[in-house]
Amino acid sequence: MRDFAAELDQRKQAGLYRTRRVISGPQQPELVSDGVPLLSFCSNDYLGLASHPDIVRAATDAMPHTGLGGAASHLICGHHSAHHQLEVRLAAFTRRSSALFFSTGYMANMGAISALAGRGDTIFSDRLNHASIIDGCILSRARVRRYPHGDMDALADMLASTGGHKLVVTDGVFSMDGDIAPLKELAALCRKHDALLVVDDAHGVGVLGPQGRGSLIEQGLTEDDVPVLIGTLGKAVGTSGAFVAGPKLLMDYLVQKARTYIYTTAMPPAIAAATCTSLDLIEREDSRRSHLQLLIAEFRREAAALGFRLMPSRTPIQPIMVGDNWSALALSEALEQKGLLVTAIRPPTVPEGEARLRVTLSAAHSMADLERLLVALADCRPLLESKSAEAV
Ligand code: PMP
Repeated sequence: MRDFAAELDQRKQAGLYRTRRVISGPQQPELVSDGVPLLSFCSNDYLGLASHPDIVRAATDAMPHTGLGGAASHLICGHHSAHHQLEVRLAAFTRRSSALFFSTGYMANMGAISALAGRGDTIFSDRLNHASIIDGCILSRARVRRYPHGDMDALADMLASTGGHKLVVTDGVFSMDGDIAPLKELAALCRKHDALLVVDDAHGVGVLGPQGRGSLIEQGLTEDDVPVLIGTLGKAVGTSGAFVAGPKLLMDYLVQKARTYIYTTAMPPAIAAATCTSLDLIEREDSRRSHLQLLIAEFRREAAALGFRLMPSRTPIQPIMVGDNWSALALSEALEQKGLLVTAIRPPTVPEGEARLRVTLSAAHSMADLERLLVALADCRPLLESKSAEAV
């Protein structure tokens, strides 16, 4: 216990201690956090669907027919017709042959990667990939070679100098930077070097591409180019769960081998039913995506004019780069004093010295909401200057 306590103290002293807040009421930009109303710019509900009445109603309408609990794993007796319908719907939505519904994106990445690569194989993983990909790589027991973020020359050299089975895995949209992986180049390299390409499009599904079909469709990439697509449903889709989509043979293989699919209780089927409704809205309502694009453009223009350092991102993930942990915390706290919630992201979630405020925009934000954030950022801007002067 003493060692644990010492480690917690160390974290506190380094500005790395993580805290939770208690939210009451529905998830939407106007939150109640520990009893205090705040305007949030840090959720992944990019389309504002997490509390959409049609989706909530779809879940409650389904429940008298499905009950609530999943009751068992999919392979025992938990695989409900609502799950089955969602898988058919997800395959059609992503323009793929088939899809498999997982309980979370974390589990989809862990399960798929560890099933598709094993001892003696090599996994090539972008240095900025999500934690669940990193953990999937570890679980697989394959050799892992991390390539510098987005560096296709480095990856080409690594692939050329490695034999045996190869798997390349990348975020589609990088979760902390907001940039998009060079997907076409990745697909070409994998084809050339006979490597299996896995793309985790957690932050692209619903947001990018025609009708929100994701990063791969946006770039004209098919199942032949990228055999394994992973997506989460708890972000832009507004519900919960995740999926892997691709050739039927691969899905059959995952049903046999993906431990995070096999050994866990199926998600409540009503969530699957509600997700189908969400996908209908996502396909139908382009207006959410066009409003989101206006917000993104306005934020980038104004925040850059205020002198904030941004990342090359055209997605709703718009980090403000700060650097040291304490400055990131100070900026986040100053914004909170003004009624705005933008959490500070620190190592190990991001590399050392790259603490930031991860601003995320949502179609549920109005232009007036965004103006409020920009005015508050302008007021807080001097804080960063005085902090960096202190650091010097
Ligand atoms: N992949 C990426 C790129 C993510 O950002 C996240 C969530 N932060 C996940 C996977 C995990 O998804 P889920 O929240 O559904 O477990």
